[in-house]
Amino acid sequence: MTGKIQITVAKSAGFCPGVKNAIDKVLELAKQRQRTIYTLGPLIHNKQVIETLKGQNIYAVSSPAEIKERRAILVIRAHGIAPQDEAAIRALDLEVIDATCPLVKHVQENIRAHARKGYATIIVGDRDHAEVLGLMGYTEGRGFVVDGPGEVRGLPRFEKANIVAQTTQEYDIFLAAAEEARGNCGELVISDTICTPTRQRQEETVKLARNSDLVIVVGGKNSANTTRLFQICLRLAKNAVHIEKEDELRESSLKGAASIFITAGASTPTWMVEKVLEKTRALTEKNLQ
Ligand code: SF4
Repeated sequence: MTGKIQITVAKSAGFCPGVKNAIDKVLELAKQRQRTIYTLGPLIHNKQVIETLKGQNIYAVSSPAEIKERRAILVIRAHGIAPQDEAAIRALDLEVIDATCPLVKHVQENIRAHARKGYATIIVGDRDHAEVLGLMGYTEGRGFVVDGPGEVRGLPRFEKANIVAQTTQEYDIFLAAAEEARGNCGELVISDTICTPTRQRQEETVKLARNSDLVIVVGGKNSANTTRLFQICLRLAKNAVHIEKEDELRESSLKGAASIFITAGASTPTWMVEKVLEKTRALTEKNLQ
């Protein structure tokens, strides 16, 4: 509490277990091996963390062709990659470390098992997101990405289909897409593959955003799960702002807000949430004077 203003920080704010595990793995590796480490794509969608990693000799590349050293270490990030791409990089002169989140692996296995039995796959997610691109590789060439129920209407009719969610999908969107797909398939398997940490984060956000005058969502502007959280908050709270760093917080946004809720995406470090909390406290105290 700050005067009459209530500030609540989400219990689920900060790195999800999958991101935390990938970062810990890479930092440990950097300490042990004293060699440059490359990650296939940025380890997480957070500019501040990526800068910190560079200081530890950890760099992101978009393709293995960018790596000039022999036997370099290449890390597959938490989002995972398509099996064909994994086979291709394992055939190169590289040491490959797999940091795919076990919960993403579970979705990959689900898709593969159904695809091998002849099911088409409908993925409810962002078609350009790395996790979805990786999942498509498990569909045996019969995968379709939709962003929600509207796009399901544009799909062909399937005899057998398996509908899955990108792990950070919003539950209501997945459910609506599955309902829509039901009328379009002879047999439909509904595989709710939204991961538990995402579900908890969304449930907490919905509950607290409804009772807040202002929600501050902290996280990368290029992070899909942070953007999704922000969209949920915009719908439910009186006002919501999405910031990457504490210095983007404006005094004017806090004016008149008696209850403030601070939440963050899965790729936002706890220290950044702390900084935003400090800045919020300072600005609300100033507003009260
Ligand atoms: S959001 Fe869920 S599935 Fe994705 S890395 Fe985090 S814990 Fe794993």
